[in-house]
Order: sequence, then C-alpha cells, then structure tokens
Amino acid sequence: MSGGRSPRDPDCIFCRIVAGEVPSTGVHAGDRVIAIRDIAPRAPTHVLILSREHIPSAADLTSDDAALLADAFAAASEIARSEGIAERGYRVVTNVGQWGGQTVDHLHFHLMGGRSFTWPPG
Ligand code: 5GP
Ligand code: ZN
Repeated sequence: MSGGRSPRDPDCIFCRIVAGEVPSTGVHAGDRVIAIRDIAPRAPTHVLILSREHIPSAADLTSDDAALLADAFAAASEIARSEGIAERGYRVVTNVGQWGGQTVDHLHFHLMGGRSFTWPPG
C-alpha cells in the first residue's frame, strides 16, 4: 500500500513510470497527466491516464483538482479520437479501493474501447 498524497512516492509503480524509471508505451504527455498503454489490456484499446502527482485514488480528489480532472478527460477524449474508438463509444473508469477493484494506489483512469461492454460491470 502506497502512502498519502505527495509529489512522488518512491514505492509506487506509476510514480516510477511518470518519472521514466520504469518503461511504458506513452500515448500522451501533458502538464498534469500522462497516458500509457495498459500492460495487460482487457480491450483492443486499453489506455491508462495517470496523474503526474501521487494521489492514492479518486477518493482523495477535491475541488482544487478541477484542472487535473479537466486535463484527464480532455486527454481521454483526444486519445479516443486518435485511437478510432470515439465514434462507436468507449468507457472511462476509475476503480477505488479493494471492492472497487483498485490494484495500483495512484490515481488513474482506464480508457477502454474497441469492443462493447456490459452494464453493470461484474
Ligand atoms: P486498477 O486495477 O488499479 O484499476 O488498474 C491498474 C492497471 O494498471 C491494471 O489494468 C494493470 O494491468 C495496469 N498495470 C499494472 N502495472 C503496470 C505497469 O507496470 N505498466 C503498465 N503499463 N500498466 C500496469
Ligand atoms: Zn504514485
């Protein structure tokens, strides 16, 4: 379990990816967020949009994070268009905590597309 909010958590895999210490396939790099391909894709397009700052989950967001969230969703929209999934539709998801299915404690949004999804999720 990684610690609380901080510019960087040395034990966090996504902080290490943001810092370039762990390799990843980047698809977007902005001031507040980056986007990379998921290492174990669950859909033809499966991109992760990560905050540059170490924020443990969406539960830690406040109204001060408005710009970060706008950047994350603008990146999702742009990437969806460039991946060719915008027209048919796609999903943007963030998992929170154990029952939410979160396995990496650093804020990220899954951008998934290229197939249809069921609702509600399992
Ligand atoms: P969560 O389960 O927290 O919602 O999502 C974590 C996601 O990160 C999973 O889909 C998992 O495949 C992905 N992931 C875990 N470690 C790495 C890694 O080192 N590199 C990349 N690109 N993705 C990772
Ligand atoms: Zn982190």
